[in-house]
Amino acid sequence: MLRWSIATVSMGGTLEAKLAAVARAGFRAVEIFENDLTFFSGKPKDVRARAEDLGLEIIGLQPLRDFEAMPEPMRARNFDRAERKFDLMEELGTRFLGMCSSCSEDSADDKERAAADLAELADRAARRGFRLGYEALAWGRHVRDWMQAYELVCLADRPNLGIVLDSFHICVNKNPIAPLADIPASRIGLVQLSDAPGILMDPMSLSRHHRCFPGQGDHPVGAFLDAVMKTGYRGPVSLEAFNDHFRGAPAAMIARDGMRALQMAGEQLDAGREQQGLAPLRIGTQLPVAAHIDGIEFVEFATGEASRFTDLLKGLGFERVARHRSKAVDLYRQNGLNIVVNREQEGFAYNFHELHGTSVCALGLRFDNPDLALERANALGAPTYFGRIGPGETLIPAVAGVENSLIYFMAKPAEGATNWDRDFVFDKKESQGALREFDHFSNVLRRSEFLSWMTFYKSVLGLVNDPQVEVADPYGAFYSRVIRTPDARLRIPLNIADGGSTAVSRFIDAFGGSGVQHIALETDDIFAFVEQARERGVSFLDMPDNYYDDLSARFIDLDPALIERMRSLDILYDRSKSGEFFQIYTATFEKTFFFEIVQRKNYELFGAANTPVRLAAQVSEQERAGF
Ligand code: MG
Ligand code: MG
Repeated sequence: MLRWSIATVSMGGTLEAKLAAVARAGFRAVEIFENDLTFFSGKPKDVRARAEDLGLEIIGLQPLRDFEAMPEPMRARNFDRAERKFDLMEELGTRFLGMCSSCSEDSADDKERAAADLAELADRAARRGFRLGYEALAWGRHVRDWMQAYELVCLADRPNLGIVLDSFHICVNKNPIAPLADIPASRIGLVQLSDAPGILMDPMSLSRHHRCFPGQGDHPVGAFLDAVMKTGYRGPVSLEAFNDHFRGAPAAMIARDGMRALQMAGEQLDAGREQQGLAPLRIGTQLPVAAHIDGIEFVEFATGEASRFTDLLKGLGFERVARHRSKAVDLYRQNGLNIVVNREQEGFAYNFHELHGTSVCALGLRFDNPDLALERANALGAPTYFGRIGPGETLIPAVAGVENSLIYFMAKPAEGATNWDRDFVFDKKESQGALREFDHFSNVLRRSEFLSWMTFYKSVLGLVNDPQVEVADPYGAFYSRVIRTPDARLRIPLNIADGGSTAVSRFIDAFGGSGVQHIALETDDIFAFVEQARERGVSFLDMPDNYYDDLSARFIDLDPALIERMRSLDILYDRSKSGEFFQIYTATFEKTFFFEIVQRKNYELFGAANTPVRLAAQVSEQERAGF
């Protein structure tokens, strides 16, 4: 039966905890990695009973290594070893054994012998009612790609012997994918899925430490799954990701992420099949389609009772236009930008401020169909949060975002109405100014949470990702990957560091976790805006003179008068093939937050070339301020 499965090696913790996490995430099938049994304190039959209790089918045991084409007496010993695995399978109640191509120096480069060994083992397995799967490891001694493994399987030609198609080994060596569709389904033992980042590394190290779930890396996992399903294979599809961060994280989180990634893979598979005129396969539970995000209704800051933060907002041209009817909450507005300032002394925002200081505690997104979007979130294991409201106030459902901040699911208001009138008393409705759009929201994340949030944004909110960028920091390096709506209306760069004292790491220390480090706002005239904001008392991040000398060298056709104007105002510049970009940063507020103002002229990037100088300037700022 076609269904999702996960290999226990993909998670950390004890086998009992892994099985519980897998079941809770909605899996009904699991592959047992033998090491998990070795470290298990009970008997294999206890694992069988536990799995049965949890409604989990054990679809297979793996791996049997270094088996084929060995000289005697190792060959005879290998058959004894395999018989002991069969005994174990009997106790576990599973019928399938996964074996991988030999890495042993002693194995012979002899197809006939290798195939004869596989045939003999398959015959022994058949006597006990078992099936075998043979998988090419990308670093195998003689068999490294699926074409070679398939040749051996065909040579051995046993009905209970199939090939294991593991997307990692096939994609990492760039084996052809489309011809997989021509393998008869009867020759396929198992299908395994994982993804990996597109970094240059030997396949074994990449496999053992950096595999991740579909959609978290750069492998063509979708094309792989599409080709494999065209064979007519309808057995289990199992996640198998060896990853140090996964094993260090709570098993419940990883199992949930795995299910989210698979649900998304299944959705994309069916969308692709529909385009090709093929019937959908509907693996697993069906999700409501991702609802279209129409825009950003508001950003909410938790500020505590008395804060200078509103001075900064006013300096940037925001005006307080309304107050909440029953709470210490104000609405600041500039054109279509809404910023909610929450000064409450109890409840969610208060607690968030106690933990993180002045910070973004919520994001209000406007959906075409918020009910459907929420239904999808719930189906993907993101439950609905309802805040405390006063009588007659609007109940807005939310789901938990980074560090338990909230993402509100709001509706597009009806013609002539707004989302605000019921709860807020307005002094004025309109507020003009130079800032027009939210450009992006930068999330700084702990390394261990990066892939998890990426999968959250992609599966729950239907966002897509851009390629990963590496950025130099005065104290190390960090990585950035932009997640966005397909129309780029909402853009969230996810930034992570591998430790050290990079800006990312310092933010996490000062903030007390992951969070929104800065919000970028777009203007049509950055020069006029900065002059006005400076007059209103806003401090901007001081950029070093050398930066501007370097600009004139990098862009020799750039008008010297323009460079001087940028130098006097601390505005940064970048250029792409298609356009130009200007940006500036405010001084950091309470160590953890700043605004960026951008002006785009047909430029769709984020000024990554300027990030190192911005980071260096922020280090100088911190040293001056002594934080
Ligand atoms: Mg595998
Ligand atoms: Mg300067």
